Amino acid sequence: MRVVVETVAREAACPECGTLSARVKDRPLRRVKDLPASGQRVELWWRKRRLVCLPATCPRRSFLERTAAIPPRSRLTIRLREHLAAAIAGSNRAVSEVAAEHGVAWHTAHRALVSAAARWLPAPTPTPVLGIDETRARSVRWLKESTGWRRSDPWLTSFVDADPARRGLLLGLAPGRSGGCVKGWLAEQTPQFRAGVGTVVIDPSAPYASGIRAALPHAQIAVDHFHLVRLANEMVTDVRQRVAREQLGRRGTTADPAWVHRRMLLAAGNRLSPRQLRRLEQVLAADDPTNEIGAAWGVKERLRQLLAARDPADIRGRL
Ligand SMILES: [Zn+2]
Repeated sequence: MRVVVETVAREAACPECGTLSARVKDRPLRRVKDLPASGQRVELWWRKRRLVCLPATCPRRSFLERTAAIPPRSRLTIRLREHLAAAIAGSNRAVSEVAAEHGVAWHTAHRALVSAAARWLPAPTPTPVLGIDETRARSVRWLKESTGWRRSDPWLTSFVDADPARRGLLLGLAPGRSGGCVKGWLAEQTPQFRAGVGTVVIDPSAPYASGIRAALPHAQIAVDHFHLVRLANEMVTDVRQRVAREQLGRRGTTADPAWVHRRMLLAAGNRLSPRQLRRLEQVLAADDPTNEIGAAWGVKERLRQLLAARDPADIRGRL
C-alpha cells in the first residue's frame, strides 16, 4: 500500500530566526517507515515542504518543515519506534525477528528498544552496592531464521540497588545472563556510576563474574546469603536423590520418609520444633543408612549459622 502524505499546516517557523513562512520552495519526497495498516505494510511517502525564509537578515535561505510524528532526519515515525520497542520488550521475540517483520534494520530496532528502555527506567542513581540477578523470563522458544532454528534465550539479567538503605530498587534490565550482557549494561552507564560501585552482589549460578572483572576491576564481588543458602539446599536435595537411587534403585516416592519430609530437610534447623527435630532423626534413621543425607544437612546448617553470625571473632571461629 502506497500512501503519500503532506502536513496540513500552511506555515512553519524558520529554526534559525523563528520567522513564519508559507512560501514553498519545493516538496521533496521522503520515504518514511510506519506501522502496518490493515495487516499490510505501508509504503509511506512524505511530501516534505522546503520553505523559503524571507528576511534578508537570516543566514538560512530555506528550511524543511518538521513534524512531531517524525524526529528530524529520522526515517521512522515515532509511533513505529514505540511499537518496535514494545514488541521486543513485551515478548520474548528476538530483535531480528521484530525488525524483519517491520522491514527495518536490526540496529534500528535495537536502537528503538534501548532508547525506549532508557525512558521507561530513569537513569540509575549511583550505588555503592550493585546487585545482579538472573531471572527466567519465560520458557525457551525457538525462532526460525534464514540459517535455521535458533534457541531464544529466555533469561533476563536485572540490575538492582543492593545498598541496604534502598535495597531492591530496579536500576536496569538486559537480555541474557552472560558476562557479556553485564559488561554491556555497565558500559552504558556513566563513569561516575561505575566508579561508585564498591561491591557487586551476584547470583553465583550465572557467569557474571568475568563481565564484572572486565567492567569494574576495582569492585569486590560478593554472593548474598539467599543465593548461598539456595546452593546449599540444592546440594542437600542432590544428596537425598542420589542416596535414594543407590539404596532403592529408583526415585523417592510417597513411601519414603526422606522424600515425604524433603521440605523439612531444607528448612532452617534452628526454626524446627523439638517434635520436628525428633521426626527428622527418625527420617534419617530410616532412609539414610550411609549417613550422607545427615552429613549434607549438617553442612547446610553450619553454613546457615555462619551466615547468621555477626561478631567478627565468631565468624573467624566458624570459618
Ligand atoms: Zn530564518
